Amino acid sequence: MSYFTPHIEAMTPYVPGEQPAGGEPVIKLNTNENPCPPSPGVQACLQSAAMESLRVYPDPRAGQFLRAVAKLHDLPDGWVLAGNGSDNLIMMIVRAAAAPDDRIAWPAPTFPFYETQALIQQARPCPVPSGEDFTFPLQGLIDAKARITFLANPNSPTGTTASNDQLHALAEALQPHGLLVIDEAYADFARSDALNLPREQPNVIVLRTLSKGYSLAGLRLGYAVARPELLEGLWKTKEIYNVSALADRLGAAAIADQQHMRNNAASIRNARDRLADALKQRRWRMIPSEANFLLAGPPDGNAERAYLGLKERRILVRYFKHPRLQNWLRITVGTDEQNHALLDALDEMNTTP
Ligand SMILES: *Cc1c(COP(=O)(O)O)cnc(C)c1O
Repeated sequence: MSYFTPHIEAMTPYVPGEQPAGGEPVIKLNTNENPCPPSPGVQACLQSAAMESLRVYPDPRAGQFLRAVAKLHDLPDGWVLAGNGSDNLIMMIVRAAAAPDDRIAWPAPTFPFYETQALIQQARPCPVPSGEDFTFPLQGLIDAKARITFLANPNSPTGTTASNDQLHALAEALQPHGLLVIDEAYADFARSDALNLPREQPNVIVLRTLSKGYSLAGLRLGYAVARPELLEGLWKTKEIYNVSALADRLGAAAIADQQHMRNNAASIRNARDRLADALKQRRWRMIPSEANFLLAGPPDGNAERAYLGLKERRILVRYFKHPRLQNWLRITVGTDEQNHALLDALDEMNTTP
C-alpha cells in the first residue's frame, strides 16, 4: 500500500551533491559553486532591503529583476520569465509542454534533473548517448524527435559544448512540434552563448541562472529567454510567487554589476586552465572544459578511490555512479588556495596509498 501514484512510488529521487553542515572545515569542490563573493552591490542592497519588503507578498512577475535582465540583453517586453533557480524553470517547461508518454530527450550523460522531471510527468525519457569523449550527439537528438529536448551547454558534468551551428540545425530539425531548451547554467564561463537563437527560431528557450557566474546559488534565481508566445504557456504553470522579494531586488543588483561577474569568471577560467595543466602533469585524463569545473580521470582509472581519499582529507569532489562516468571525477574550480590543497592531497595520496 502506498499513498503515492505508481510512477512516483517507482522513481528514484534526484540526489544533490553533499552540502556539509555549516562550520565543518571542508574544501567544497563538488557542486560547481563560485568561490568568489557576490557583487558588493548585492551586499549593499541586502543591508538596505527594508523589513517592509518581507511583510508583503513579492511582485509575482519579479519585475525589478526582469527589467534588469531585459536591459542587459536588450530584450523587448515579455521575452523573460524568472524562476526560483533554473530548476524551477525546468519544472515549468516540463509541466507545460509534455503530455504523458511524450518523449523528452537529452544528450547523456548530463544534468540528471531533466530525467527526474520527465519521470514525474510520466513522459518518456530519451537519453541520447554522447560520442566518444562526450562529443555532442546532434544526429541522435534529431532522430529522437522529442517533444522537449534539453541541452546543457556547456554540458555538466563533461564541460563540453555544442556549436552554434549545431544548435541552429537542431532547432530547425525539431520544428514544428519540438521545443529546444538550451540550459546555459555555465555560459558565463564559456566562449559563446545562444541568447540570439530565440530571436531566430520560434521553438527555442534559453535558461540562465545566477547560481554559478554570479555566486548566488543560495539566493535561488534564474531566468528563461524566449518568444512571448512560448513564455505564455510557462506562465500558466508558475507558482504564484516563485521568486521572493529579496531575490527580486538582489538579483537586479547582481545583474547590474556585469563587471564583477566578468572579472570573477575570467579569473576562474584562468584557474581552471592552470588546474587542468597541473592534473595533466600528474597523468590525469581530461575533457576540455568551457565551464567552472573539470571532468578529470585519475591515471589508474579508479575514480571512486580518489573520491574517497580526497573526502578523507576533507575535500569534496563529485563522483557519479553513471556507467560512462565511473573513471571520472567532476572537480569544481576553486580559489588558487583550494586548487593547490587539492593537488597536495592527490600527491599525498599517491605516496601513501
Ligand atoms: C547548476 C545547474 C542548474 C541549476 O541551477 P539553479 O539555478 O541553481 O537551479 C541547472 N542546470 C545545470 C546544467 C546546472 O549545472
